[in-house]
Amino acid sequence: MTNFPQDNAFLRGGPTSGSADASIAICSEEPMLAERIASSLRHGGYSLARSGDPASLLSAKRVAGLIDLLIVDVDQTEIPNKSHHWRSLMKHVQPTIGCIAITRRDESRWIIDCIRQGALNCHILSDGNQQLQDLVSEYVGRNEKGLDNLKTVEERRQATLSYHLRQAIEREAIEVYFQPIVNTGDWNCDRVESLARWNDADLGSVSPGEFIATAEREGLVENLGILVLKKSLQSLVELQKSGHSPTFSINVSRRQFENPRLVETYLKAVIEAGASPEQIIIEVTETASFSNYTLALSLMRDFVDAGFRLAVDDFGTGESSFMQMSHVAYSELKIDRSLVSCIFEPAGQCIMRSIIAMGKSLNMHLVAEGVEDRQTADLLEQLEVDFCQGYFFARPMPQADLLSYFNDLSKKQGQNLKPLA
Ligand code: C2E
Ligand code: CA
Ligand code: CA
Repeated sequence: MTNFPQDNAFLRGGPTSGSADASIAICSEEPMLAERIASSLRHGGYSLARSGDPASLLSAKRVAGLIDLLIVDVDQTEIPNKSHHWRSLMKHVQPTIGCIAITRRDESRWIIDCIRQGALNCHILSDGNQQLQDLVSEYVGRNEKGLDNLKTVEERRQATLSYHLRQAIEREAIEVYFQPIVNTGDWNCDRVESLARWNDADLGSVSPGEFIATAEREGLVENLGILVLKKSLQSLVELQKSGHSPTFSINVSRRQFENPRLVETYLKAVIEAGASPEQIIIEVTETASFSNYTLALSLMRDFVDAGFRLAVDDFGTGESSFMQMSHVAYSELKIDRSLVSCIFEPAGQCIMRSIIAMGKSLNMHLVAEGVEDRQTADLLEQLEVDFCQGYFFARPMPQADLLSYFNDLSKKQGQNLKPLA
């Protein structure tokens, strides 16, 4: 058995200020061993979230995000029939800063792999004592690493979020809602915007603003984008079967323009779904800056050459839209809600008029975002904006409601479709 130190000898001197908040869980099937580590930790002043075997740790529901560091005694596990415990454990108990696995046996490798999948950092100790002390100290801040770098509530939430988001994308658990965009000619709808939605069993509903930023930071936005595209294409095909053929606007993050195969991947998905690129508008979002501007421009041109249309999203909030617009044939300009909400102020209206004039002279369609009331819709119509999107017309809705929405519209053909209030 690995030789662990007794009581106070472990973590001599206790935690530095603040780091006692670190919550540490110990997982071992050997109660004596677990207790020895636990008691050392307690004497050192660290709070112990839980201690027990995989099964009992598992019975503690909703511990995700509560545990910072998980120490797993791999050697004390009967290998063949306990695998499901470990897998489930790592699924539910997600350490936010890391996992230390203790083993001296080569045949335990598969458990380590399993742990590694679930932990953000994983260390394997082949012989106990000093290495373990050093690692725990490091994680909980002794050496100004670990928790010291990850101690704010926000940072812990980010770590938890990225872990769950990765899983949600893998399980295709991200949903897509669709928001109608109406034209100011007859107030009918022939296009929708796809908007990602994430409702997590543990975290609840997470706003796109938050999880898209996480996806961009963690390198997940590419897979997320493909998932949203595929789900949108399924909806497009479903609507087509019912006789409706709206265009779908899909948000593509600037980070996705780092992948030279972006256009190829999107085109393949569209063709495989039985749709055509002319039915898709790529909205280039302004949330991140392009890391490789030359590659991004060439991909945008490839999108256009392949038959997709391009839209500048959130116009009025970003910094480099003008430069892009002079190099690429965008077909529409989406004017950000922050500008739309100011159109009753003299300066706001003046800016809006200039944007509209510029868009028209570049042969672009103009879409106003965030239209929330009748007065705004009326003024935008007078200003000759081509399309409006906003809660005044319809909120983002799931696929099933979208079908009813288009069925209702078909029944109202020929009537004035502008909502009254
Ligand atoms: P966006 O592309 O500007 O999408 C429009 C946002 O405005 C949506 O927020 C929509 O729900 C909201 N909205 C629409 N009408 C109104 C209105 O009348 N009033 C107000 N207050 N809001 C309105 P949502 O769904 O929270 O999405 C936020 C942002 O997240 C999107 O802004 C987009 O930048 C990003 N996003 C959403 N889905 C995806 C995706 O699949 N991929 C990428 N890369 N980004 C996405
Ligand atoms: Ca958008
Ligand atoms: Ca937008």
